[in-house]
Amino acid sequence: MATTTPEHIKCLIIGSGPAGYTAAIYAARANLKPVMYQGLQPGGQLTITNDVENFPGYPDGIMGPEMMEDLKKQAARFGTDIRYGIATSVDFSGRPHRITIDESVELTADTVIIATGASAKWLGLPSEQRLNGSGVSACAVCDGFFYRGKDVAIVGAGDTAAEEATYLANLCNKVYMIVRKGEMRASKIMQKRVMDNPKIEVLWNTVTDEILGEHAVEAARVKNALTHETRDLAVEGFFVAIGHEPNSKIFQPYLHHDEQGYLKTIPGTAKTNVDGVFACGDVQDYTYRQAVTAAGSGCMAALDAERYLAALGDH
Ligand SMILES: Cc1cc2nc3c(=O)[nH]c(=O)nc-3n(C[C@H](O)[C@H](O)[C@H](O)COP(=O)(O)OP(=O)(O)OC[C@H]3O[C@@H](n4cnc5c(N)ncnc54)[C@H](O)[C@@H]3O)c2cc1C
Repeated sequence: MATTTPEHIKCLIIGSGPAGYTAAIYAARANLKPVMYQGLQPGGQLTITNDVENFPGYPDGIMGPEMMEDLKKQAARFGTDIRYGIATSVDFSGRPHRITIDESVELTADTVIIATGASAKWLGLPSEQRLNGSGVSACAVCDGFFYRGKDVAIVGAGDTAAEEATYLANLCNKVYMIVRKGEMRASKIMQKRVMDNPKIEVLWNTVTDEILGEHAVEAARVKNALTHETRDLAVEGFFVAIGHEPNSKIFQPYLHHDEQGYLKTIPGTAKTNVDGVFACGDVQDYTYRQAVTAAGSGCMAALDAERYLAALGDH
């Protein structure tokens, strides 16, 4: 049977969020001829948000989708080959690295930059989806500012939820923290910070039945799981902090990762444990998960890839 030689790529970028596009800008300007596969969500997570006010360079703020269009144009301007497609499997056991796109297109690559992000977990309520970006958010640091002086609710019981509740309490009038069980998973110190904060009211054994509001969040209908008593909390912001899932499944057999699946990089670099494979953005960042940190690490990944190729004499 005739076999076709897979297309060979010098620098393959998987993912098209701030990390992927920044890596593309640097790689293209270094003449690495980057090819980018955009994945299911071209432009990444910021395409589902409205105002972005904390990305440097936009003094009046910018809409998330517009900002990602700007990044795309900038990457394309220097010659990035931007393609539709999802990386469905990889083989990093030898060189060159092997990547399959959409379960059918085989590629080989000298360097691979993984910028696949981390997806927020949601409660799964239709109202949560409908009001996403109109009061419902998965990022207190990103959107808390819009609810200054207002009442908000946050769902979750881990360290991130506790940290975000405390962050919101610095901005908002009142924070209801909705906790499903009679205890929190958060560390003792984080719990103490929550319990000591007079602006935070913890609702134990409580689940969210519905988020109410026509065009924007007006209230959250919650139910006490023990008493079955239902009440409507008048809130304008509803934050979901029940965790993120890094989009790293296909890489995990080859790359070091933590128990949640975040890829591990050598501190101070974007290098993974496999030569020529780099990771940047939220897929390797449990801590910050911001567009600007993702962009910064995308720059690091491209520079590391360029230096790796130069050391091999390939560039
Ligand atoms: C609602 C919301 C509002 C936010 N607001 C702000 C804000 O105001 N300011 C701020 O700094 N941050 C904000 N953030 C956080 C910010 O969006 C993320 O930190 C940032 O987008 C991470 O960038 P990234 O490039 O690592 O990944 P992402 O933006 O998540 O992009 C990941 C990319 O990888 C692609 N991908 C995934 N799997 C594959 C695959 N197998 N093959 C090919 N491609 C793949 C996806 O299609 C996507 O293009 C917000 C997040 C959310 C959810």
